[in-house]
Amino acid sequence: MAVIGIDLGTTNSLAGIYRNGHTELIPNAFGEYLTPSVVSIGPEGEIYVGKIAQEMRITNPSCTFLEFKRDMGTDRQYRAGNRSYRAEELSSFVLRRLKEDAEHYLGEPVTEAVISVPAYFDDDKRCATRNAARLAGLKAERLINEPSAVALKHHGMSDVMETFIVFDLGGGTLDVSLVEAFDNMVEIRAVAGDNYLGGKDFNEVIARAFYEKNGLSADQFSAGEQGIVLREAERLKRMLSESNEARRTVRLGDRDYVMEMTSQELVHRAARLLGRMSEPIRKVLNDSRMSPEDADCVILTGGSSRMPVVREYIKSICKEKTRVEPDDAPEESIVTGVAMAAAIRERTGDLKDVILSDICPFSLGVELYDGTFSPIIERNDTLPCSRTKTYYTYQDRQTALEFQVYQGESLIAAENLFLGSVLIDGIPPAPRGKEGASATFLYDINGILDIRIKNRGHTVHRVMLNRRMGLSDEELAARLSQLEKQSLHPSGKERYRLLAERAKRLYMETGAQTRERIAWQLRLFEEQLATGSAKQIRAAYVRLLLLCEQIEGNQITFGEFDESFWEEKD
Ligand code: AMP
Repeated sequence: MAVIGIDLGTTNSLAGIYRNGHTELIPNAFGEYLTPSVVSIGPEGEIYVGKIAQEMRITNPSCTFLEFKRDMGTDRQYRAGNRSYRAEELSSFVLRRLKEDAEHYLGEPVTEAVISVPAYFDDDKRCATRNAARLAGLKAERLINEPSAVALKHHGMSDVMETFIVFDLGGGTLDVSLVEAFDNMVEIRAVAGDNYLGGKDFNEVIARAFYEKNGLSADQFSAGEQGIVLREAERLKRMLSESNEARRTVRLGDRDYVMEMTSQELVHRAARLLGRMSEPIRKVLNDSRMSPEDADCVILTGGSSRMPVVREYIKSICKEKTRVEPDDAPEESIVTGVAMAAAIRERTGDLKDVILSDICPFSLGVELYDGTFSPIIERNDTLPCSRTKTYYTYQDRQTALEFQVYQGESLIAAENLFLGSVLIDGIPPAPRGKEGASATFLYDINGILDIRIKNRGHTVHRVMLNRRMGLSDEELAARLSQLEKQSLHPSGKERYRLLAERAKRLYMETGAQTRERIAWQLRLFEEQLATGSAKQIRAAYVRLLLLCEQIEGNQITFGEFDESFWEEKD
């Protein structure tokens, strides 16, 4: 059975499968590879994912959710009607959509996937990702760090590169990793990053400038209107990737406002964001004890690396000998590598001999009696990895030692993430510091922490896996049966629903005269959807689509009408 690779992104998600020597991207119902990681819950509890949900940001803002990846593994609840959802449940809807699209594309059931996560995801967030997969009916034992996936893709395509830095700036996070590739080995030497730095922050900079320049304040607008400003900021930002200045008209209520900016101004306004980008680069070099000259190449990936200001900034901080290579298709890099990782896991095809090693993105250790943290496995140790340290009694005649296990980088144990505790007793009474126990931590590439505490012949064994996962097995089973009752909007009807939602959004965004035309065509379309023949529905669809395209000032592309569309039978 096929094992697919999934890039579960903050902004967009993609699925792919490696076969016949390369990764094939899996198209969604619109024939596109990127599915926006946006979920909207309809009044009957029906679930919309992707492009349709994106339109519903404006028409159904209180029940439309995005960027929930940032809250994976937290207790945040997203309220929609009389139900609330955790981030892993919203992610599970995205995964369900991708799974269904993959089944449709491959013509067989898909029950297993390798999923990518930011390198800096801690254990809670990784567990939440696995749970999201389970809720979507997918087994995802193997998670792969996003930069490792990019490294894998690049190593597969070039045998010249030796040491390179992957700089991945996505919608919400920055991941930087230092990778060494030789022969059939891809080894991640160090990772660093910023969980709160991405394209979204540039949109916010542009939106703030817009309010400021027009003498407005965000608070005076509804959530839907603020969404319009952010969407226009996103469009303006993309225009600035093509030219040095950009201008858009933003309609809020009955008024039109101007949003404009030059590249120069963006550099100036985003100076602090740009400055934050050099820190993780410095950190990966330090952590792997390398100097900046040792990096042969910096690969710029992630959608936001398309921004010229980002490219220029990274070039300006790199050494002369280091090449800066913007990825040709940054949105597809991760999924290409994840699908390859799935093939490596399956040991199939030409990838069966590739060895992918990974590193531990955080330290794992125990609390000492004075409350400080003693790491046993250090951040950036290569996985799988086994380390042993011995700890001694701190009181006379002490016969038990309790190991409180944490992950994190703080010297104060309690400031790190608590994973659990392991007690060993039966230690022979002796003066303090004379007796003790050795603690062996084995951490593997699947995130399983195996702990063995040993005193003389006596060993206590514990496996810490998915410990603090937010949801217990029982809760997970209950949520699963609840979610099964909620259906995903059927993909066959998606294009109709998308158009209706787009028309509703345009209705909210435009003035009186245009509104009347939209309302009229939308009503005709909905009537045909309810009672018309397939032919009548298509005719109404085309009329409404042309109107929407005209209002948005788009060139009409006949790509919308692919063959399958005309082939639909009455
Ligand atoms: P990713 O999470 O890697 O898919 O990246 C998504 C981010 O890339 C979003 O914040 C987008 O705004 C940004 N992005 C995509 N294309 C462009 C572009 N042409 N110019 C600027 N930013 C872009």
